[in-house]
Amino acid sequence: MVAIDVPCQDCGAPVGLDDPACRACGELLSPDLRLALDERLEAASPDLRELRERVRSARYLLLVLAIAYAGVALIYLVVDGDTAAAPSFFVETYGHFAFAAVFLGLFVMARWLAGAAIALALGLFLLLQLLDFVGNPAGLFASFLGLLGVGRLTMKLGMLVLLCRAAVAAFRAHRLRESLVPNRALSL
Ligand SMILES: [Zn+2]
Repeated sequence: MVAIDVPCQDCGAPVGLDDPACRACGELLSPDLRLALDERLEAASPDLRELRERVRSARYLLLVLAIAYAGVALIYLVVDGDTAAAPSFFVETYGHFAFAAVFLGLFVMARWLAGAAIALALGLFLLLQLLDFVGNPAGLFASFLGLLGVGRLTMKLGMLVLLCRAAVAAFRAHRLRESLVPNRALSL
């Protein structure tokens, strides 16, 4: 347990992490004060800081995914432009643009909610791989035949490992924070 407090914005009495409001005057903590308290908690716990750093830096994986999906969509547009009338072309191209937009949104969201954004991105990425496989099971085995296919598989696997590690770090940071702070603060 770490005892951490900041002065109440109203009366100056110490307000701790476990206090939903100031005990002296009843004033609710402002979001800025909550953030200040959380930063103090991080400063007091090197383990928490290290885990949070890992989660924060992992948010760039979401940007990489957004760029990758946008890149694939552009390749579809440029290379398959002559078959643009095929229905699957629209699904593939605009589907990839849509996923790029979603990953970009998660990247932005991760500034405030890194753990949740990474968990959502991991879930979506897994789902997309599963859909890919269900839609074309032979495709997975065919990708072992070419260097490009093996490269793509390796990149996807690498992304999966990095996302999983980030999600685990986010979960551990959450658990550690809970062990440092009594539950009352979390019920807010
Ligand atoms: Zn007060």
